[in-house]
Amino acid sequence: MNKEINALVLKTTPYKESSLLLTVLTKENGKQNILCRGVKKGRRGKLFAEKFAYSKMRIYVGRGVPVVDEAELTESFYPLREDIEKLSLADYFCEVALSVPFGGGDENLLRLLLNSFWMLCFTQTNPVIIKTVFELKFSQQEGFAPAEFDCRCGKKAEKWSFSQGFLCSDCAGRDGVYVPSVVVNAVKNVLCHNGKGAYRIELDEKSLFLLSEITEKYLEYHTDKRFETLKYYRKFTEADFGKNT
Ligand SMILES: [Zn+2]
Repeated sequence: MNKEINALVLKTTPYKESSLLLTVLTKENGKQNILCRGVKKGRRGKLFAEKFAYSKMRIYVGRGVPVVDEAELTESFYPLREDIEKLSLADYFCEVALSVPFGGGDENLLRLLLNSFWMLCFTQTNPVIIKTVFELKFSQQEGFAPAEFDCRCGKKAEKWSFSQGFLCSDCAGRDGVYVPSVVVNAVKNVLCHNGKGAYRIELDEKSLFLLSEITEKYLEYHTDKRFETLKYYRKFTEADFGKNT
């Protein structure tokens, strides 16, 4: 049976002599594996079979892993390969997306990845903002992002508790980390907007780095995972941050 899918390549694994096993996120079936035969035989290579490539594919679904019959590249996101900081972030986004189970992930997650890659490639938006928005939106899609931005007692939020959300310092007690109100407002803006509106974060560098540090820990706390690609990304941001302080 043939099927049409729109697929973004998250990971490629060599398979037998000349094939590649692609782990893709699709609009139609969430995360899935597909097999791409004869990749190394072709003289020009197959752009759609490279990591970060987004394509329309016709696949043959039989008994085993579905096989790519035909593919038409929609976007290669090539500029990601020209900037090592952006590349390390894109790798991180893929690792986070790979943490969803097979069949998991949906059109919203696919759109979030495509938006994030697009922002990294074709806009001047600060990559730290793109990272933070990705982490918050992923948390929201997976159902563990904060939904209230004042404390449950009605007072202004002063702390962010990973297990309980935003709280005033009385209700939080020893739980949570202190966050300035500009940071709470930035989180609210990201979570209450979709598309480009979510990226309108206006924070000074110090508050932005604080937010970025919190959102990555928040994600690790709720997914119970340590993302290897983050370690690599941190090397760049630590160096950058040091330069400007
Ligand atoms: Zn309170």
